[in-house]
Amino acid sequence: MPQKKRNKAAPAYRLQDTPDKGKVVVAGRNIKQGTVIFEESPILYTSDITDEDILEQFNKLNLKDKDKVLSLSTIPEEDPSKKVLSLFRRRNINKSKCKGGQALYFVLSRVKHSCGANIILSPVGGKSVGKIEIRACRDIKKGDELRADYLPGINLFEPKRERTKVFGERFLCDCPVCLLPEKTESETNEKIRKNIKEHYRNTSIYMTLGDFLQALDHCKAMLAEMELLGDEVFPKRVSVSLECWQLAVLANLQRPEVDIDVEILREKARQLCCVLGKAQLSKWERTDEIVQKGNFVEFDTVKLRSSGPWAVQIIENLTQAKV
Ligand SMILES: [Zn+2]
Repeated sequence: MPQKKRNKAAPAYRLQDTPDKGKVVVAGRNIKQGTVIFEESPILYTSDITDEDILEQFNKLNLKDKDKVLSLSTIPEEDPSKKVLSLFRRRNINKSKCKGGQALYFVLSRVKHSCGANIILSPVGGKSVGKIEIRACRDIKKGDELRADYLPGINLFEPKRERTKVFGERFLCDCPVCLLPEKTESETNEKIRKNIKEHYRNTSIYMTLGDFLQALDHCKAMLAEMELLGDEVFPKRVSVSLECWQLAVLANLQRPEVDIDVEILREKARQLCCVLGKAQLSKWERTDEIVQKGNFVEFDTVKLRSSGPWAVQIIENLTQAKV
């Protein structure tokens, strides 16, 4: 049998020069959804983000790390202090991702935004301050640029021209979703995102009113719309599946006479969380623990969505009535 030539595995990612955007991060080989691509610790980390603090942290770095920081900027600027401050404002990875602080990374700070991200960032935790795990949230082809979703909350489902305004009025998103051909895929994509936003709003409204069955219906409809986008918004599908399960538990408590598929939603959430590894799975385990303890007001969906006291009060009454 002729022996197949076996190449050593290519690195999972590499930096690639571009004519206008400086260095970008691309996949060095085909990567399967769920794979950890790399982990990275910051070059510059600060828990405070005043100009003085950023410059103080920068000045503490050795020469090699200072060069690494300055290499992140593609804008010509003579004054290193101004350069550091301006690129920190543009390229820092914010606190939700790196546990309370803000930080610059040699590789990660070059990862741009996408409205259909292919990687998800999670804090590694433990003693490694600011260390982040970068994992594929969809299948990635060799040579594809690695991009993360940096939009807060529901912004991802705003219309194309609105959703990235948080990055600046003049920011133009050049991700594959925003570059879909007009009139065809783009319109369909926008319509689905609009439906997701509406179901998101309705889920919140019914949650605030304490009508958990209606909230569940809208949450399930939101998940179904997200499924139409496939893996384009996979991390959102994971969190919404967790929410569906939490709402199903509440709806079941409130309306025991209605047949609610709590177990199916629990399992669906588990399967989706498993794809994205430990960080997501721990969210599933936390929900399971809350269910076991019957401490339902601790659900993320209650904390995120019930903007009045009613939902919490209703849940407390229902729990007491059950005991
Ligand atoms: Zn975009």
